[in-house]
Formats: sequence, structure tokens, C-alpha cells
Amino acid sequence: MEGLRADLVRLAAIPSVAFPGYPAEPVLAAHDLLVELLQGVGVEHIERIDLPGTAPVIFAEIPPPDPVAPTVLLYSHYDVQPAGDERLWTSPPFEPTPIEGGLRGRGVADDKANAIAHLGMLRAFDGRPPVGVKIVFEGQEEYGSPFDEHPPTEPERFACDAVVIADCGNLRPGTPSLTTGLRGVAEVTVEVRTLDQALHSGEFGGAAPDALLVLLKALATLHDVHGDVAVAGLRRQAWAGAAYAEEEFRELAGVREGMPLMGSGTLGERLWSGPAITVIGLDAPSVDHATSAVVPYARAKLNVRFHPQQDPREAQSAVVGHLRSLRPFGVPLTVTPGDTGPGFEAVTGGPAYRAALEALAQAWGTEASYIATGGSIPLVNGLARAAPDAEVLLFGAQDNLCNLHAPNERVLLSELRNTVVAMCAFVEKYAKYATRATHGSRAAGGRDGTDG
Ligand SMILES: [Zn+2]
Repeated sequence: MEGLRADLVRLAAIPSVAFPGYPAEPVLAAHDLLVELLQGVGVEHIERIDLPGTAPVIFAEIPPPDPVAPTVLLYSHYDVQPAGDERLWTSPPFEPTPIEGGLRGRGVADDKANAIAHLGMLRAFDGRPPVGVKIVFEGQEEYGSPFDEHPPTEPERFACDAVVIADCGNLRPGTPSLTTGLRGVAEVTVEVRTLDQALHSGEFGGAAPDALLVLLKALATLHDVHGDVAVAGLRRQAWAGAAYAEEEFRELAGVREGMPLMGSGTLGERLWSGPAITVIGLDAPSVDHATSAVVPYARAKLNVRFHPQQDPREAQSAVVGHLRSLRPFGVPLTVTPGDTGPGFEAVTGGPAYRAALEALAQAWGTEASYIATGGSIPLVNGLARAAPDAEVLLFGAQDNLCNLHAPNERVLLSELRNTVVAMCAFVEKYAKYATRATHGSRAAGGRDGTDG
């Protein structure tokens, strides 16, 4: 752990922000450091995938120790979110700083701790784990990268039996979690033009069609009185895994005292297996610059999140159709569909899931939970298309109190340590279970369960 902690500090001290306007050198420096660390643990085959418009992807390979051993693809990313307003940080974002039980700094949790966890597993096995390994460390995940679409174009390179996407973590510290669902996302813009120009509200208000009022009336139809989404055609199902307790969620979200939450049903259903529609932008005169005038034009941007298995176009069409059917005060709306991203739902019954559930329980000393996340990881679908038969697992050293993408990001060393232990236990167990699954007859008649 001391060595891993020191390497995490080195890596997190590099401001590898791969957003436009930020220098490329630190991104490349983080790339080079990870390559050096992989070489240090004896990984011989390391390549650099260079695609236009994105940072280099580290691709490394350790062949399976024997022909029947499965291959596991390990994913993480080495770029980070920008620090944002540095005055909001308690310590400089790119000076990884010890805190009680952990480290504070931009990228320590998202996602450098998880790259270090993969490295820790390789070190524990002296570079020779009991499975074949493919490593994919991406360098422009946070901004968005054409790499998302790349794996299906090279299926042989990305062929594997299981994928571990370590760009996530636990429901809360100490609760080992496998993220099995990611909601899909779609954007929709709605606009209203009613007048050629703003009109004196004293002379015209009361009869002149008010674009802002029309828009607000339309937006008000998206949810029912409880705050549940009221658009027909968006899938909602019960959430079967673990979820937040209400008090925990209130604290996590910083919901003010006495303020009710929106919607009804369990939080798992509201946050993960049901839809959400958020108004993320509104074009209207600002209060500070408001004049006494009827507003001629208004526009809103909606961000729609939907059930992991719902088709993005279907979900988007549901919202677009709902808005187009409205005529607030008789006024039609102009509705434009924007970007979409598919959700993801893991298939959990296979040998890799069995191995991971046991490995997480072993590492944390308590049963693992299935959770989901509202955020999307577009590459998950790219990898799933490249290796359609591979089991996809999402776990890692983050937890929901890490302040990802926010000031004072932090990671707990207990979670990092347990993630390394879990990765080690996972590859050991998976090597056994996957080999048995492939050679079922031999396993059935022979070895007994001595997986201790
Ligand atoms: Zn990330």
C-alpha cells in the first residue's frame, strides 16, 4: 500500500486535464508515468493507440498463463476534470494532500486511484496474474473522446472474457458495490416565438401571447403533482438492488432541512430504473435586466435520463412527442431532439459475476450490493459491442462521498486497499470458475469447491 499510495500521489500531482484550452504536456506526462509503472511490474507488451482528436490510449497485454485461462480487460482513465474554482478547494487541487484516511486532490478518485488499483493487482502477482490481461487506460474520458466508438472497429484487439470498468465505486465507504446499470441520456430543446419583439406589458400584456408563459406552462406538464415524470412512454421499473436510505441521500445531495424530495417510490427507482427530466437551461430575460415587457421568445434545454434498457431514440421521441402535442394557450412549440447516449444493463449470471461478488465480499468483509448510477460511461457500450460475449463488471475505489467533478475530491485509502484485494481475489476466482465453465465435464467430475 505504501508504494501504491506514493504512486497515486505522483500521478495525481500531474494536472492531466484533456479539455480544450489546457496544455497537452501534463496529459502526456500522466500517460508516460503509467507506462513506466506498467513496465516496472514487468508488462512487456505496451502499445499506444493514437486516434485523431483524442489523447493516446495505453493498451497493454499480458498473455494468459495457460491456454484455458480467461482474459480480463482492465479499464481506467488517466485524464481528470478541470479543478474549477481553486478558491473552493481546501488545498491546491494538484498537490495531493493527506486527509484522515485518505488523499485529497483532483483526480485522486476519478480515476487515478482505479488505475493504481489495477497496478496493485499486477504487483501482487508479480506481473503474472492467473488470467490473461488486457489493459486499456484512456486519456480523454472526461471531455469525451472518439475512442468510445473505436473498440468495435478492432474487435480482435479488445477480445476478452470479462471487462472490469474501474471508473466507479461504492454506494458508500465500506459497502462493496457492483454497478450493474447506467441510465441512458437524451437532450431535447424546446422553444417558443410568439412576437416579433418585446412589447410594453402595460399596453399589450393580457392579450399579446407571452412566450415565456407558454414555455413555463409546457414545462409544468412534464411532471405530476408528486414530481414524478408524467410523460407517457418512458419506462419505469422497480429497482431490485441496493439503494440509498432517504436520510443518506438528503445528506449526500445537500438537500435543505424541511425540503421534500421529488417523486414517489424507492430512491433506486427514482434515480436508476425510472426516468428523470431536468430543465438544465432556460433562455429568458434575467431578473436583473428585466424590463416591463411581454417576452417574445423563450427557450429551454431538457436533459432526460431513462431506464438502462430503453432505446435512446424511443425515450427521446416520447419527450419530443409529448411537447409537440401541447398547445399552451393554443401556441405550438418548436421541439428539437439533441444528442442521445444509450444506457447499459449488465448481465449478471456468469462466472465473472460469481467471482466478483465473492471477491468484493472477501475484500470488504461484507456482502456486495448491486447498484446503478445516473452517469453514463459511453465506452462501456463500445467495449460491449467489441466483445459481445464478455461479462462487464463495474467496480472500483470511488465512493459516493468522493466529490467527483467537484471541489475537494478525495479518495479513502481503505477503499483503494480493498479494491486491490478485490481485484486480486477476482482474478484468482475467475480463473477457476471460467476454466470450469469452459471445461464443465472435467470440473463436474473432479475438483471440489476449495476456493478459500
Ligand atoms: Zn471517471
